[in-house]
Amino acid sequence: MQPTRETFGNIPHSSQIIFYLLTVVTMAVFGYGVWRRFKMWRQGTPVGIKELIVGNAQQIFAKLRPGLGRLLVEGLGQKRVRGRGLPSYAHIVMFAGFMMLFLGTTLLEIDHLSAGISDALKFHKGTYYVIYEFTLDIFGLLFLAGCIFFLWRRTRRPSSIGHKATDWYVLGSFIAIGITGYLLEGLRLAWQQPTGIAAHCSPVGFLIAKSFSGLSNDSARGAHLGVWWLHALLVFAFIAAIPYTRLLHMIVGPINLFLAQPVLGKLVPVSMEEVEKTERIGISAITHFNQQQLTSLDACMECGRCEEACPAFATDKPLSPKRVVQDLKGLMTLSLGTRTKTAGFPIPGLHNDTIRPETLWSCTGCSACVKVCPVRIDPLTLITDMRRNRVGEGELSGTAATALRRMQSSSNPWGLPAAERANWSEELGAPTAKDNPNFEVLYWVGCAGSYDRRAQRVARSVVKLLKSAGVNFAILGREEKCTGESARRLGDEFLFQELAQANIATLAKYNVRKILAHCPHCLNSLLKDYSQFGGEYEVIHHTQFISDLIQTGRLKIPASDGQGNGDAVTYHDPCYLARVNGIHEAPRDVLRTALGATSKPDFREMLRSREKTFCCGAGGGRMWMEEEPKKRVSTVRAKEALETGAKTVAVGCPFCLTMMTDGVAAQNGEARVMDVAELLVERLKI
Ligand code: SF4
Ligand code: SF4
Repeated sequence: MQPTRETFGNIPHSSQIIFYLLTVVTMAVFGYGVWRRFKMWRQGTPVGIKELIVGNAQQIFAKLRPGLGRLLVEGLGQKRVRGRGLPSYAHIVMFAGFMMLFLGTTLLEIDHLSAGISDALKFHKGTYYVIYEFTLDIFGLLFLAGCIFFLWRRTRRPSSIGHKATDWYVLGSFIAIGITGYLLEGLRLAWQQPTGIAAHCSPVGFLIAKSFSGLSNDSARGAHLGVWWLHALLVFAFIAAIPYTRLLHMIVGPINLFLAQPVLGKLVPVSMEEVEKTERIGISAITHFNQQQLTSLDACMECGRCEEACPAFATDKPLSPKRVVQDLKGLMTLSLGTRTKTAGFPIPGLHNDTIRPETLWSCTGCSACVKVCPVRIDPLTLITDMRRNRVGEGELSGTAATALRRMQSSSNPWGLPAAERANWSEELGAPTAKDNPNFEVLYWVGCAGSYDRRAQRVARSVVKLLKSAGVNFAILGREEKCTGESARRLGDEFLFQELAQANIATLAKYNVRKILAHCPHCLNSLLKDYSQFGGEYEVIHHTQFISDLIQTGRLKIPASDGQGNGDAVTYHDPCYLARVNGIHEAPRDVLRTALGATSKPDFREMLRSREKTFCCGAGGGRMWMEEEPKKRVSTVRAKEALETGAKTVAVGCPFCLTMMTDGVAAQNGEARVMDVAELLVERLKI
């Protein structure tokens, strides 16, 4: 006889009817909970979800493909959950166990319904049955192991994780479902008394059944029915609770993965028509967020990864990206929930009441929170959208407001005359695009390289290297204006657009296609911001360009003398280069050449490097803000750099150069801070 079992073996017909009635009730409670949240998400501004299913099959598939890919790789494959040691593995194990048990239960029901139509349709038997029972037995153990790990972890209360009373219910019910599932299996084997492979294909159930060997068949059947009901009630309560507890992320997480904007460093433009139509700039009320942003608030499971990665939070600023998301979620529930509306509670405002101005201005725009969020929630865009409103309402004051005014009046945040923009290059004779219209590459110097004395030395080093390699390049000189990157990240969208359009017109005049930039903020803006306004360019960082010059032999590198100064060197990855644009090997390649004077270059990595780099504190327009000396982001990062024992801290960004120099000084460190290009010039003795 083939090994098999009845789906409802030992369960009386009356119990089966009550079971199905409870299923309907459970699904109704579950459905209401999801509908309640869905109604809130819908009140955001539309994001064109319906357009996804307009067109022929091929067009629809092309539109759905990226989202489906993310669902598969990041949802089912748990790609973004990985990389956090034991908790990551525990989540993956628990998720795999849960999905397998869910799939197994679904297959069991399909088999039951099929067998109801015809016995010939029953497939839960033979080899399939043996594999099924064995697989679920093992995955049940994985599920329980994951749950127990999280129970233990929750008792330790890591500060980054949110704690609610319902969390204990969720974990407790998971564990109870797992344990009653195994008891059920053991009791079934105890009364069914299968033989051969049918008895052994559930090894855990088989061991449990042994402990019931003293029970009479009737007692085993009675206990089996009792545990079956307990298990079923636990499962019903668990399903019904999903939309009302942390488990909501199981549904909304995948939805957000599907809908989310996947490109780091890109902001959605605002048009004047939009402002005229809505009579507002940015976000001043919860319903001004778009539907995807409101949905994303419900995807947050308060894992705290964003908070752990946030430089503002790490330096005691009044900002935690997790808190921002949770506070907005709370406001959404209060202002858009039917129950609160009808109860007539006073609803707090968005700005000041829910999100304080100092929270918004603390963000360095480093994208660390966006990068680490397992379900692609984007606190940075939420913050920038709210900043836009504050700037539009004239609520930004102090040094940052001064920098914006200077960008407006003089096209640079220093407020210096355009006529002085190319003064740094006079001795070097860097050609302008006007004098050398047939250039191979345009060197975008940026405001720091043009006006900041320290960063001018970097610009001069880049020019020396370009000249040494015989590169046909040009600069825009006084025709170059600030890219407007800081203005955009601070929230002054229209100042950014004004500067961007002026620069795009200049670049079009010289038919520029390839741009070399030593500032990662300029690079990101020229690459990702300008393309939104018709400026499409190939933009490369100076370290990439120099690395290419070395590899192609255009830049002649003398053979190593085997000596060098023997100083240990570390490299600080700029956020907008490494994390936002994935450029982290080229600077290291150039550094290796720059250090080549030693037979064994002493290059030391910091604990947080490449895409996991820690901000210097200057992004998001923070470069133009005062920071309390007590605990500066740059001081924390400089400490990490000094802890490597390096005597030189290499950087690839003029903002990082300033911040790390200040940070090292604040730490009374003896290391010098140098751009990668400067170190190569030093080695080549140009
Ligand atoms: S926003 Fe993302 S990373 Fe931050 S707590 Fe929520 S789920 Fe975790
Ligand atoms: S972008 Fe950086 S500074 Fe801003 S909230 Fe996210 S992690 Fe914090």
